Amino acid sequence: MTGTETQSTDERDVNELDIAPENGWNALYLDGEWISDGNRDSIEVENPASRTTVTTVPSGTEDDVDEAYAVAAAAQEEWAERPPQERAAIVSEACELLGEYAADLETLFAVECGGVQLKAGFETQLAQGTMEVGAGLAMRDGGRRKDSVTPGKENLLVREPAGVVGVITPWNFPLYLSSRVVAPAIALGNSVVLKPDEHTPITGGLVLAKVFEEAGLPEGVLNVVPGYGHEIGDHFSGHDVPSVMSFTGSSEVGRGVGQRAVGSYTEPALELGGNNAHVVLEDADLERAIDAGAFGSFTHQGQECISINRHLVHESLYDEYVAGLADRAEQLPIGDPLKEGTLVGPVINESQRDKIVGFIEESVERGATVETGGDHDDLFVEPTVLSGVSNDMPAASNEHFGPVAPVIPFESDEEAIRIVNDTEYGLSGSVHSTDVARARDVADAMETGMVHINDQPLNDEPHVAFGGVNASGMGRYNDEWIMDTLTTLKWISIQREPREYPY
Ligand code: NAD
Repeated sequence: MTGTETQSTDERDVNELDIAPENGWNALYLDGEWISDGNRDSIEVENPASRTTVTTVPSGTEDDVDEAYAVAAAAQEEWAERPPQERAAIVSEACELLGEYAADLETLFAVECGGVQLKAGFETQLAQGTMEVGAGLAMRDGGRRKDSVTPGKENLLVREPAGVVGVITPWNFPLYLSSRVVAPAIALGNSVVLKPDEHTPITGGLVLAKVFEEAGLPEGVLNVVPGYGHEIGDHFSGHDVPSVMSFTGSSEVGRGVGQRAVGSYTEPALELGGNNAHVVLEDADLERAIDAGAFGSFTHQGQECISINRHLVHESLYDEYVAGLADRAEQLPIGDPLKEGTLVGPVINESQRDKIVGFIEESVERGATVETGGDHDDLFVEPTVLSGVSNDMPAASNEHFGPVAPVIPFESDEEAIRIVNDTEYGLSGSVHSTDVARARDVADAMETGMVHINDQPLNDEPHVAFGGVNASGMGRYNDEWIMDTLTTLKWISIQREPREYPY
């Protein structure tokens, strides 16, 4: 896509925000320099609510990727030698700056990915949380000492930075999903090359370059190359420089990224898609289950890997649950995310909208009933509740990634568990029951990385392990778990006394 001639009022606005670099966002960030587009093609950043171009950024090339990795590799050793408190202080300062720029971030989240103010608040808070915990990692767990089975030997496990970390992130929670890798990676003495999603090059990447630059991060430690996944993604993920390839995105793309990374002996860390179930057992508190169900389905238009994708409700509560959820859905204000009070904004783009609408229509053709919603106006898809759904209908069997709540009835806990697990995904989920032991049994039987009892699946805490099983990914993020990925343990032994060898 090219089109630098399309300059709207929105474009001037985002380039004049306090957080914007001096010459605006139309730049890559390499070796501490803001490099303007040169002869590169441009990526147009479109506001999904107004459909206007808010700015353009350069479309990074394979040469840019090579340069970014080379620069990162050159900067890493010296950075790792900095005292941990210095590394931690820079990450903490970047975290502070995110707070100071919160109003600018709110605007950017709205115009880049249709995020309403409530979501902007969540995201800034999540990004700051992960930065706080990430900063703290610099001062934690330098390694271990282990006894030896060999007389006179001392075993030391020394923790070292992994080296260069490649990071690819999606558009839905761009700042947070990038921060949760970039902040701990930097704190632990790594250098980073970040490729944000093409829809969100600013909040997914350039914003981090800006706050880390302001915080005093040395040149080359963080490099940001905006670019199209289908153009530079294979080159980026199969590169021989990085030691870790962190990917957050769809399972389909993630599988290829993981394979290419392993092909270059790079450790993959994959956070992928989900088909999360919200299970309401027959003894559930119905109002609590409905409140949680609405929040888990419609927040950020259902565009989260941990959104509720399917509601599973015991047949005895089914009609009341469907009516209650439809009532909640109808009350949600839809509109421009920049407008205060809006709770449902646009979905990210036309192809995503068409996919969501297609899943609704195909499910209706297969016998589902639209209880509320079902229509759309441009990229605004109405919060939709579908009843009479079975697990094999398209809205339930696919990760729909939209404001859609397919409700599936079940007769027993065993049947609910069978339906929950009848998917290739295994990310998050929730169970409602007034009997916590019973809910716990169901939670244990759910094949997912995370389950929340008497809540909904949309939970992420910066100090708690986050991740999925099966097609939802490999590895865990946050705190000590991401530290394991971003560091290498080296075994150094010291033979303090002469050793007796067999010959
Ligand atoms: P996507 O896989 O299409 O894109 C994600 C990133 O991958 C983007 O930066 C894109 O440019 C890049 N990409 C595309 N093709 C590539 C290639 N061949 N090689 C390397 N990179 C490439 O994902 P999406 O549809 O934009 O995002 C939504 C998906 O992300 C959903 O499936 C959602 O569940 C998942 N997600 C998972 C988590 C998690 O933590 N598990 C969090 C958020 C989103």
